[in-house]
Amino acid sequence: MIRTDTDLQPFNTLTSAARAKYFAEATDYQGLHEALEFARRKQLPILPLGGGSNIVLTGDFPGLALHMGLKGLEFEPAEEGATRITAAAGENWHQLVMNSVARGLGGLENLALIPGNIGAAPIQNIGAYGVELKDTFHSLTAMEIATGDLVEFSAEACQFGYRDSVFKQSARDRFLICEVRLQLPGSWRAQISYPALQQYFAETGQALESLTPEDVAEAVIAIRNSKLPNPVHIPNAGSFFKNPVVTGEQYQVLKQRYPDLVAFSIGDDWKLAAGWLIDRAGWRGFARDGVGVHERQALVLVNPGHQCGGKVVALAREIAADIHTKFGVELEAEPRFYPDSLPDSPGAGRQSTSA
Ligand SMILES: Cc1cc2nc3c(=O)[nH]c(=O)nc-3n(C[C@H](O)[C@H](O)[C@H](O)COP(=O)(O)OP(=O)(O)OC[C@H]3O[C@@H](n4cnc5c(N)ncnc54)[C@H](O)[C@@H]3O)c2cc1C
Repeated sequence: MIRTDTDLQPFNTLTSAARAKYFAEATDYQGLHEALEFARRKQLPILPLGGGSNIVLTGDFPGLALHMGLKGLEFEPAEEGATRITAAAGENWHQLVMNSVARGLGGLENLALIPGNIGAAPIQNIGAYGVELKDTFHSLTAMEIATGDLVEFSAEACQFGYRDSVFKQSARDRFLICEVRLQLPGSWRAQISYPALQQYFAETGQALESLTPEDVAEAVIAIRNSKLPNPVHIPNAGSFFKNPVVTGEQYQVLKQRYPDLVAFSIGDDWKLAAGWLIDRAGWRGFARDGVGVHERQALVLVNPGHQCGGKVVALAREIAADIHTKFGVELEAEPRFYPDSLPDSPGAGRQSTSA
């Protein structure tokens, strides 16, 4: 059933007020076809919605907001002791992780407590604590918005990168992800190379060789709870910026100026911790007119005043401009803005927030 003039505040974790001209909840393929047919007839743009934890609503949406509520979760044995998980788009990501570790299955535990639903996980190849979705991804089924056809995507076809996939590039706005299949390996080794995990297990004194996937998930949950604001209590969209990648040369110049710079080598290039740059520039804990920067994690912009997304983006732009002035580094926003252009700034609001 299609609703009109619908409040989207409950559908974004930043809790920005915005209205959709039309809204539909699709719980099966028939519902998806009907919603797409309606949008085609009226030539409406579509905003696919999962948990709303990686979007910024900068104004009212002039098309059809489509909540992807397809349900279904299956675990089955695959070759060489592996386990195949088939999950519909509307299943909750964290519940899937906890369901797997409760079965003793390893591979997803480092991705515990990432908010949102399965359908959105491939869009930015979700990642945390040294693991990304692509490490256990098998394939997915998506519905082409223009035709309603179902299309299969292999891991290769998804073109996964750091917080990136084909669905943010050439296939942007062209598909609704309906079902995702993951393959968990038969043999498992804990991925605990991240310093925060090493420190956690050093403190708990647990023997590293006898860790279970559940132990690692518990560690990840404890670390995340100590650092990141829960969007239920403090509205936010997680990390607001990607970690910028710079050349070895740029890294050396910055490292000389800032010996405590936090960065990770990726081949010849370096990935800088955006949170460190923002913190070092003095923004952590900043608050103005109901929006701000989280006091424990400078990478997270918060919206305790339930302000419109435009205000959050304006703050993000200010921060990005300051980081550019101070460090010569461009910051790129991680969440997607809807609508893409901000009313107060024509042509703005794309993914890059640098000045
Ligand atoms: C506190 C917090 C912590 C976070 N931590 C992490 C982290 O550690 N790592 C990480 O990678 N991310 C993190 N995120 C970001 C976010 O949780 C993930 O990107 C998540 O996958 C978004 O899921 P969602 O269902 O909420 O997507 P939404 O916000 O609803 O949608 C995100 C994008 O995907 C599109 N989309 C959603 N569903 C579909 C579908 N079925 N088909 C096609 N397009 C779709 C939307 O249109 C939008 O463009 C965090 C967010 C928060 C609030």
